[in-house]
Amino acid sequence: MLDRDERPGSLGEVGTRVRSCNACGLAAGRTQAVPGEGPVDASIMFIGEAPGYYEDQQGRPFVGAAGQFLEQLLTSIGLKRTEVFITNVVKCRPPGNRDPLPEEIDACSDWLSRQIELIRPKVIVTLGRYSLARFLPGTPIGRVHGQGRKLGSLWVVPMYHPAAALHQGGLRKTIEDDFRKIPEYVALAEREFQATMTPVAAAATAPEASQIPLL
Ligand code: URA
Repeated sequence: MLDRDERPGSLGEVGTRVRSCNACGLAAGRTQAVPGEGPVDASIMFIGEAPGYYEDQQGRPFVGAAGQFLEQLLTSIGLKRTEVFITNVVKCRPPGNRDPLPEEIDACSDWLSRQIELIRPKVIVTLGRYSLARFLPGTPIGRVHGQGRKLGSLWVVPMYHPAAALHQGGLRKTIEDDFRKIPEYVALAEREFQATMTPVAAAATAPEASQIPLL
């Protein structure tokens, strides 16, 4: 029997297919692809640019210096990295950490779409300009960072990339301040979601519902 998370169409199966993907030239130079990680029922998805050296070695997103900073930022708003889904626009490391090319972003695009469809997050936090461009093309990060936008039923909250904040000291406080707004967007998205549900369905998903015995 298939592992529960490897069922056709599951998030696990997407990961397996990403790991053997040859849709662009990055496949030839990778140690391993980095599909992303986190629970399928995560309310928040963080989307970065592309794996770097350590991510390529370990097959996990955001495990280098930028990842350590991301974890600090998550901790500062009371989140653990195991509670959120973390991935990238491009799933394989561009050589020498160069910027991903348009054709590489295109080739990877369906993987990210499928992950978003399966997870159905309430809030997507974009980390850096490539991730921002996916949702709000042509929008300069300097103008919109920290300000959520509603796209359909989803809130998209643009952030500077944590690596940029590590390299440019002045951005560190900006990204810390922007992160502090994430819980407000999550609460807002949650309220909007509850408002779309029937009273019975809303009661079943309320936090205290887990305490109510199911008949
Ligand atoms: N930078 C990214 O954009 N993604 C990673 O996974 C690591 C660093």
